[in-house]
Amino acid sequence: MNAPNKSGWKPAMNADGESIGGPATHTGNRALMLEEELIFEIGGTDTTGVDLPQPDAFAQRRTGGLERTAEIGLPGLSEPETVRHYTRLSRQNYAIDLGLFPLGSCTMKHNPRLNEKVARMPGFADLHPMAPSTTTQGALAVIHELGEWLKTLTGMPAVAMSPKAGAHGELCGILAIRAALEARGDARKVVLCPESAHGTNPATAAFAGYEVEDIPATPEGRVDLAALEARLGPDVAAVMITNPNTCGLFERDFRKIADAVHAAGGLVYCDGANFNAIVGRVRPGDLGVDAMHINLHKTFSTPHGGGGPGSGPVVFSEALAPFAPLPFVEKTDDGFVLVEEETAGDRHASSFGRMTAFHGQMGMFTRALTYILSHGADGLKQVSEDAVLNANYVLRKLEDVLHAPFADSGPCMHEALFGDKGFAEGLSTLDLAKGLIDEGYHPMTMYFPLVVHGAMLVEPTETESKAALDQFIGAMRSVAERAIAGDETLKTAPHYAPRRRLDETLAARKPVLAWTEPAAE
Ligand SMILES: *Cc1c(COP(=O)(O)O)cnc(C)c1O
Repeated sequence: MNAPNKSGWKPAMNADGESIGGPATHTGNRALMLEEELIFEIGGTDTTGVDLPQPDAFAQRRTGGLERTAEIGLPGLSEPETVRHYTRLSRQNYAIDLGLFPLGSCTMKHNPRLNEKVARMPGFADLHPMAPSTTTQGALAVIHELGEWLKTLTGMPAVAMSPKAGAHGELCGILAIRAALEARGDARKVVLCPESAHGTNPATAAFAGYEVEDIPATPEGRVDLAALEARLGPDVAAVMITNPNTCGLFERDFRKIADAVHAAGGLVYCDGANFNAIVGRVRPGDLGVDAMHINLHKTFSTPHGGGGPGSGPVVFSEALAPFAPLPFVEKTDDGFVLVEEETAGDRHASSFGRMTAFHGQMGMFTRALTYILSHGADGLKQVSEDAVLNANYVLRKLEDVLHAPFADSGPCMHEALFGDKGFAEGLSTLDLAKGLIDEGYHPMTMYFPLVVHGAMLVEPTETESKAALDQFIGAMRSVAERAIAGDETLKTAPHYAPRRRLDETLAARKPVLAWTEPAAE
């Protein structure tokens, strides 16, 4: 336990209780690096940030005899204590506002402050989802206009705005595919996914009740068209293909793949999480896609991290449009309406149902539309060009020191992929990533995609300057050179972070989610 020592002078310690050097301090703090106890250790039940009056008889009546009779046992902190607690913790973390996030397959880019300003406008921020549509015309107009942009940019005729993340969008797309197949009395059982697919793809297919089978890859990291064609048949409901794929490569045969799948009676799902690399340049509708989710929180800059929030609208082909979920926004002569129920004869007459209780992530819609409008169509095209340029810069600047398995497959798209070939015995991708933390960076995506040994996936995004990229490349080079030379100190990195190596497996398998007061010594 690394709590500040209140009773004496102590050296600053790491999580293993080792001194991290320097003179002793009373608090365990080191200048601007502040230690922090758990909120349960700071707060007692005798303090509180708010003074609420004792509930009156009316309030007691409304709780129906269920009012609390004992202490709730949560820590009470004053407002400044609360603010300081969370601000101190945030300073032990890494953020997009502090530096480059090299995570691949995530598109962690700067979120313009303008987006935040618009999202906080009271007309959007203070809306209640139950408010009557006569009072929410502006919000419905935003949802509608964003949907129109997404249809235009993807070249697809229909869109469902309600899914709340990429994985949720995948489920939406696959449920629409299932509804379309069922409507024609076709009980196909199998969904095909490439080995390089994001884990959510096979998970979605399995969750929707399908058997999942692998599609093999060619040595250059793309879908093996011949092997796919050989596997197609009357049992294949759909293929799920990410384009650009998770090896950072554009699937050049996508149109041929889609034609083959359609000829065999199946449908084509495209994982559009990597749309950042092609937005404004390629319209998935032209490639034969039937359904594709768009991660607004990746391509259109809205912030994410720590598991949320997200937003994953899905665009649909004509074949799937009738099966899209409710609700959706429609523009009528009397203004915008949120259509909550299917009506006979309408284009959503066969809707498979709902993905969410309400219309979706309003806060993400306002941010995404602000980002889109502030760039315009030409600006978005430049976004993808700059993103691809930046990734190729990283790839070419590091390929002499890090193994780049697909460097000969042509330019990469938005992300550069490296493997651990050439590292000294006993040193791994994990050690390099931990060394990168000491250089002041969040690590890149590791061990994904699975098709590359010790994979390191780096997506710089278009928002980074050449100077920022050069500094990152310098840090990567230096840590990679240490890994190749067998520098054993990498094994115990990070040395300078507020915490050292945590047991990530234990944390994932046996998370401690409740605080219990330690027994008195
Ligand atoms: C991020 C991502 C997903 C899942 O999106 P979430 O919003 O995290 O649910 C799916 N596929 C790929 C390729 C991704 O990068």
